[in-house]
Amino acid sequence: MIPISDLISLLRDRNARRIALQFPAGLKREAYAVASALKEQGFEPLISGDPCYGACDLANDLLPYADILVHFGHTPLNATEKILFELIPRDFALNALETALPFFTEKRIGLVTTAQHAHLVMAMVEWLGKNGFEAVVVEGSPRTPLPGQVLGCSFESARRTGATEILYVGTGLFHPLGVQLATKARVIALDPFSREIQVVDASHLLRRRFAMIEKARKAKTIGVIVSLKRGQQRWDLARRLIALSNRAVLIVMHDITPDELLNLGMECYVNTACPRLVYDDQSQFPAPLLTPSEFEIVCGVRSWDEYQIDEIGSQ
Ligand code: SF4
Repeated sequence: MIPISDLISLLRDRNARRIALQFPAGLKREAYAVASALKEQGFEPLISGDPCYGACDLANDLLPYADILVHFGHTPLNATEKILFELIPRDFALNALETALPFFTEKRIGLVTTAQHAHLVMAMVEWLGKNGFEAVVVEGSPRTPLPGQVLGCSFESARRTGATEILYVGTGLFHPLGVQLATKARVIALDPFSREIQVVDASHLLRRRFAMIEKARKAKTIGVIVSLKRGQQRWDLARRLIALSNRAVLIVMHDITPDELLNLGMECYVNTACPRLVYDDQSQFPAPLLTPSEFEIVCGVRSWDEYQIDEIGSQ
């Protein structure tokens, strides 16, 4: 179970009694145990049962019913004194890095990871140093506050290493693909638990995106989507995109789902909300769902050679 003794002290310090709890999908099964433990300590917990994908998507709508919202699993974004962020760090054995060593072609490498492993970044730098490699880690940014941290919508920490070879330590393939597209560096992805290693190749993803751009060129009806989730809202960008095409209209949504886009029935959509919707979920949507820079290509104001991965906060 998630350790909550420090959390209990924090809640008592703030005289909070009604506690709203929000978990992302990977931690939701912990909700019952955390709520029960808080109840035993005299608190009145309530669990957000809605989907949650990141700190961009805070359950602020529960705040009228609670003294404080505790958001688990992510680093702070749009923090206020009524919101506590509880990151759940995950350890791994540093010698997992051994698997990556034969894949390095340079002595100086950039190092990035996800928030869950960011507490191990300096230990990784030291371990790699002892094994003959200089690992470069940069300070965080407002969206990724921990050193070396990347998010699915921000690869700033990778770009600012200036390295031409980057090690990504973490699970999943989306983040290292994003690192490669954002930096053009050679990217090595290491899963520190399975110790699986991959030299990342984003060319398949780019081919799929190229096909969507070509399909979108024929669309007569285009919806540019703005999210109402506070950490995903990009109104200025959406308005700039609308002005590029007289076929484009503005759509405002809380949750961008295949069913709702099917109901709207347009031939192409442009997403200014979470970038991962486009890269991870395109196959579920009924029409091309383009990133802002892909739409610029369709509108002829950007060339394919200037393709840019979509990031929030870099535009
Ligand atoms: S916008 Fe998407 S990638 Fe960025 S924090 Fe939110 S859910 Fe994660």
